[in-house]
Amino acid sequence: MERVDVAVVGGGPAGTSAGRAAAEEDADTVIIEKGVPRADRDGPGPDSTDAAGMLDYWVDLMDMRPDEVPESVKCRELNGTTFYGPNETVTLRSTRMTSSYPNFGFTFNRARFDDWLRERAETAGADYRVGNGVQSIDVDAKSGHTLTLRDGATLKAEYLILADGPQRTVTNRVLDSLLPDGTIEKLASPRANHIAYQEYREFPDEVFEEDMLKFWWGAMPGHTAYPWVFPNDGTVARVGLTMPIGLDLSTIEDPTSYALLQSTDETVPAGSEYIRRLLEREYGDEYDIEEAFPLVEDRGKRGGTETYPISSTRPIDSPTEANIAVVGGAMGATSAFHEGGDHVAVRTGKIAGRLAALGALRAYNSEWKHTIGDEILRNVALADVVRDYEPADWDRTFRNVNKMMRNGGYHTFDALTSGISGLGLLGRYEWTKFGYRSGRYVQIQADQYKQ
Ligand SMILES: Cc1cc2nc3c(=O)[nH]c(=O)nc-3n(C[C@H](O)[C@H](O)[C@H](O)COP(=O)(O)OP(=O)(O)OC[C@H]3O[C@@H](n4cnc5c(N)ncnc54)[C@H](O)[C@@H]3O)c2cc1C
Repeated sequence: MERVDVAVVGGGPAGTSAGRAAAEEDADTVIIEKGVPRADRDGPGPDSTDAAGMLDYWVDLMDMRPDEVPESVKCRELNGTTFYGPNETVTLRSTRMTSSYPNFGFTFNRARFDDWLRERAETAGADYRVGNGVQSIDVDAKSGHTLTLRDGATLKAEYLILADGPQRTVTNRVLDSLLPDGTIEKLASPRANHIAYQEYREFPDEVFEEDMLKFWWGAMPGHTAYPWVFPNDGTVARVGLTMPIGLDLSTIEDPTSYALLQSTDETVPAGSEYIRRLLEREYGDEYDIEEAFPLVEDRGKRGGTETYPISSTRPIDSPTEANIAVVGGAMGATSAFHEGGDHVAVRTGKIAGRLAALGALRAYNSEWKHTIGDEILRNVALADVVRDYEPADWDRTFRNVNKMMRNGGYHTFDALTSGISGLGLLGRYEWTKFGYRSGRYVQIQADQYKQ
């Protein structure tokens, strides 16, 4: 049977970063990517979720230089973001975080980003194999983990890095074998994930804002459920949303307070219907939406549209004693609050790959907390604070933020995201952060795994 030092499951940003870091330390490394077809990539590649925005300080968190991401990967330089509440609006022109990147951030093409990361991993010496996914894994920390691929081929690896994204089809089975009965239920997809839907639309020139991200809060029900618009190339934008899986409309106290719900709705509308309503509400007075904002169909996964799971809970520790690390979306590093996750996927992948190659994987859980812990803490705390938010709460918060910015007091905040929490919630935000201090945001701890 083929033997390698490090096997990485999944070839997205986390997997390629892990593979590259391991190969750079001379470990014999294989990255196994099941391969997904896309309209805008030749041949199967990683499952590149398309909405892609990078904030200035995330570049530093990826441990990359400001000029390291090639221009060919980027779509637009950003100068800010606008948050729309039902009646109030906040525009932020700075993340107010220490960063080396000169602008607010940029949007990028995820397929090209992923292909670039793959190229770097291969250049470093990692073997990237696409088109044959991992079927199962026999965990054996002593004599090596055995991976069985879909075509029946097998592979033995001393170290295993799980980078199969938020659906965790492989990760959950591996971790289940190492955890007390039932613990893995915390990570069941309907519980641990939200669903995201997005489409590509050509915008009329006069309403296309090429350097701003836009988010609408309090327009649809559910925890951190919101639509957005990301500027792409030309006047094409990605218009999408995220929402909880299987939300029961009858549990919503006042459905009429949500702008994107209608009195005839008996169930939560489909993603495409929500987007149609958003565009109708924002631009329908002046435009025929289907004519003026046509769907751009030669991109994304299929027909210009895509649906993805996205992490909505807290990260987990890895069973490093078993020579296994879980990285990126699979470890729950993606923010449930703003969906940002490529930066932490890249960084956790880098850390795990390097440590595995050096035979020091046991340091992984403390090392990722040391490196990205502040970012995770902010995101987890903020997602908690807004958990029960209703439309009026967003207006109240945005009013407060605007007042603070006018008074110049905003400078004391430590993040773009904390701008959202506003005056009324600053105390609650800080208190929630305090509750999660010293890594308490982790929902499966290292000592829960069987030794
Ligand atoms: C709609 C949406 C919008 C987002 N917007 C942003 C944003 O603007 N900015 C940002 O930073 N982040 C954003 N994110 C989050 C970001 O996409 C994730 O954090 C990131 O993709 C995580 O990278 P990953 O490598 O861990 O996982 P993924 O990118 O999910 O990669 C996992 C890979 O594993 C492969 N795989 C799965 N199972 C197997 C198997 N059995 N065998 C082999 N391979 C397998 C998959 O095909 C896939 O390629 C968004 C996510 C969504 C869904």
